[in-house]
Amino acid sequence: MIQWMDADPTGGWGDEDLPAERHSQGDGEATLAAGGGWDMEDDIELSPDLQVSGTVEVVFEQSLKGISVPQRWTNSSKYAIDHVYAGSFESTARLLYDQIGVVSIEPFRQLFLAAYLKSRASFTALPNLPALPFYPMRNTKEAAPAVGNPLSDLVQKLQGCFQLTTKGDFPEAVDKFQSLLLSIPLTFVENKSDLTFIQELVILCREYILGLQMELYRLKKNPVDEHAMEYDEQNPFSVCAVTYKPIYRGKPEVKCPFCRATFMPQFEGSLCVVCTVAEVGKEDVLGLRISPIQFR
Ligand SMILES: [Zn+2]
Repeated sequence: MIQWMDADPTGGWGDEDLPAERHSQGDGEATLAAGGGWDMEDDIELSPDLQVSGTVEVVFEQSLKGISVPQRWTNSSKYAIDHVYAGSFESTARLLYDQIGVVSIEPFRQLFLAAYLKSRASFTALPNLPALPFYPMRNTKEAAPAVGNPLSDLVQKLQGCFQLTTKGDFPEAVDKFQSLLLSIPLTFVENKSDLTFIQELVILCREYILGLQMELYRLKKNPVDEHAMEYDEQNPFSVCAVTYKPIYRGKPEVKCPFCRATFMPQFEGSLCVVCTVAEVGKEDVLGLRISPIQFR
């Protein structure tokens, strides 16, 4: 008789016999039982050189050992997108804090969920068995998920933002530019030109969001642009993203560690109003990590 070793939930292997309801028709052949399992009780005739006596222990030594594929991604990767694909939103939040000072993770929620849904597929190995997950990998060398080419998605989103701006739908345009900006930490690119494009896209999003926010503020307050009159056009300056007042070169200022928007010093420690996720003035950050060329 063949004795089977079943997996139990505590991680060990059980030693129960095959279920008693499996029947043999006694004709020496394995047949499909009514319950869908193979009937292979003790009447199967084996050729003499295949016959064994006593108990045979069937142990699947490696099958349940090791760690899951998503766990391997989070163990080895420094890219936020890999952690999102693994469904590990907590470690994603930690990476984003360390890299770009993200202290508000809630605005990322939809982006996290949308990305996570792309991380796996499933297939059916045999009828009557549950579907098995499989995980498309980036390549055969590293434990990392296939994340596709994000640039076409980003360019498409950007075109949508421009259309809203042209139409004059500024509130919606601000929302869409902010969503585009938040997509950027969740990308992965392989080469220098794509990385440069992404870095420039951060600047472009920031400038559009700030410009649109200023325009909305101006429309709400007064058709006359009172702040514009305070600007000295001859002197290089940045605009404070909260007060919209100029900060001339050399004057005290603080920056957002992610979008690099500029603020007057009293806004240090506040939440950036441009990207909506990072802590203004946080300086001990690593910088966004979205490409292997940043580690060479
Ligand atoms: Zn920011």
